[in-house]
Amino acid sequence: MIPGARLILLGRQGAGKGTQCVRLSRHFVVPHISTGDMLRAAVREGTELGIMAKQVMDAGNLVGDDIMVGIVRERLSQTDAVGRGYILDGFPRTVGQAIALDEITSDLPIDVVIDLDVPRELVLARLSSRRVCRDCGTNYVASGHEKMPWICEVCGGDVMHRDDDTPEAIAHRLDLYEEQTAPLIEYYQAQGRLAVINGTSSPDDVFRRLTATVDARRRSS
Ligand SMILES: [Zn+2]
Repeated sequence: MIPGARLILLGRQGAGKGTQCVRLSRHFVVPHISTGDMLRAAVREGTELGIMAKQVMDAGNLVGDDIMVGIVRERLSQTDAVGRGYILDGFPRTVGQAIALDEITSDLPIDVVIDLDVPRELVLARLSSRRVCRDCGTNYVASGHEKMPWICEVCGGDVMHRDDDTPEAIAHRLDLYEEQTAPLIEYYQAQGRLAVINGTSSPDDVFRRLTATVDARRRSS
């Protein structure tokens, strides 16, 4: 049986993190913990957290450290995460969050922090042609010749341009990400915990390199 894993996946939006997280989650049989998905679910369900988070996100900003650390602490204490591990996606975003996470995981430390690296120009192009199903969230790539909206193959819902996928909004999110994540990458690099994986090749190829990196880290620790 494949042992579980405790992983952090960093990467720009559009780097293919979502796809790889799903595959890694199946491979290692661990939950994919996406703080973005958790926040969106909270917004959809209209919880207290969701209402607060929506105001921040509608302004194009990121939700504060205190809220995020609380959400993650709670999630990592659940039995699936304690028993087999997890893939953290979207967290930590700041050095402050990383320090809090080190404290949360002091008994069961992270195996490796992976930076899935795809250059900014490439993710900009990918994100501008992205379309998403309004109902089930499946992502599509538009060629530019489709009638909008078109019908989702998975659920029959409307496939549309996301409201927040305008070039300006994408550039703003990438700026925020780079500003915040550069110190985080330095933080993990200085501790020898970072593995940079080139995310520009085929999804199969990227996946093979990801699992090989995790296995190598486990052998060396
Ligand atoms: Zn759909």
